[in-house]
Amino acid sequence: MIMNVILLGPPGVGKGTVAKKLSERYKMPHISTGDVLRKNIAEQTELGLKAKEFVDSGTLVPDELVTKMVKSSISTLSTGFFLDGYPRNLAQAKALKTFSEIHRVLNFSASEEIIIERLSGRRTCKECNAIYHVKNIPPKKENVCDNCGSQLYQRSDETPEIIKERLNVYENETKPLIDFYRAENSLSDIDATQNVEGIVAQCVEILGASD
Ligand SMILES: [Zn+2]
Repeated sequence: MIMNVILLGPPGVGKGTVAKKLSERYKMPHISTGDVLRKNIAEQTELGLKAKEFVDSGTLVPDELVTKMVKSSISTLSTGFFLDGYPRNLAQAKALKTFSEIHRVLNFSASEEIIIERLSGRRTCKECNAIYHVKNIPPKKENVCDNCGSQLYQRSDETPEIIKERLNVYENETKPLIDFYRAENSLSDIDATQNVEGIVAQCVEILGASD
């Protein structure tokens, strides 16, 4: 099935988790910019080596470079995709439009309170990057990864103060995208205050059956 879908929404709104479930259901890959970036760096591709310089110096990887990486990972696909973490701003959205048609944009939203609770409870595995939540998805043994037995930690950008900052950045940078896609009639709003199953059900209703 060729259905190119963007998941839009602030950090902590549950996009990644939902994208994974939708990816399984529709048999279309979940393309997360974070993963694309890490993969290019790990495989030392030409783009990855360039990106690594920015990552190592603690500066943001430029739009152009991120766009090239996303383009190369979707250009070989024979199916549609779920794009998560891209586009992040209007410049990226306009760039994306030059090489890919977008059929649907799912716009996830939840209150700041909910997002802070979700993100600040998040724990990540040091080894395999599996993600847990102290309340919602607790590991079987406190602070230990179910998959690999390694220690879990709280990312430094997942403390309440930093989360508020990240939400402000999102408001400023990504909100214009909502207007952009709404004007193209491809935007659907998703109430991300519900649990994962509830959010997935809303998405499926919009995207249609998976066959
Ligand atoms: Zn692990």
